[in-house]
Amino acid sequence: MFDVVVVGAGPVGLCMAALLLQNGHRVAVLERRATSGRQTRAIGIHPPALAALDAVGAAHPLVSSGVRITHGAAYSGGRKVADMDFARPSAEYPFILSVPQYLTTHALESRVIDLDPGALHRGVQVEEVVDDGGHLRLRGQKSGLRWNF
Ligand SMILES: Cc1cc2nc3c(=O)[nH]c(=O)nc-3n(C[C@H](O)[C@H](O)[C@H](O)COP(=O)(O)OP(=O)(O)OC[C@H]3O[C@@H](n4cnc5c(N)ncnc54)[C@H](O)[C@@H]3O)c2cc1C
Repeated sequence: MFDVVVVGAGPVGLCMAALLLQNGHRVAVLERRATSGRQTRAIGIHPPALAALDAVGAAHPLVSSGVRITHGAAYSGGRKVADMDFARPSAEYPFILSVPQYLTTHALESRVIDLDPGALHRGVQVEEVVDDGGHLRLRGQKSGLRWNF
């Protein structure tokens, strides 16, 4: 029995799971992929997201392994049309941090496992959520077999 089941071990699910675990909740994270993979979709983390990562202790390892972007410039037809200052919006994180998304996911996954080594369940595809009145039950597949949680 869990207080919260998080479906999906992407950065959002893992961050939420870490926050909940830090606050003493019993959490299970269900992820259909067997491994975390190395594909990158996000290349830049903005200051509010860094503050959210900091709340679960995941910002520091990322900041030390990423590239800090403090300025940007926009060009059109070969002509500079705008300058952007990324240093001003946040005193704590005066930059956009460029870091491959798999490093963000890895930092968050490590944090979840530190908080509860049994919280993350990989290879679990959730297909249905059933509300029986008092509890929610999840159904799906694990390793190609029908599965209930
Ligand atoms: C081209 C592109 C560029 C981007 N660039 C940036 C950027 O520069 N900066 C930035 O901050 N963001 C960027 N993003 C957005 C960023 O990638 C997403 O915001 C982030 O991945 C969202 O995280 P998430 O955890 O919500 O979802 P996801 O990363 O998609 O994770 C969802 C997880 O849930 C799992 N899942 C889904 N359904 C089930 C199920 N039924 N059962 C079990 N598991 C399930 C999936 O396998 C997956 O692992 C970009 C996105 C794209 C597509």
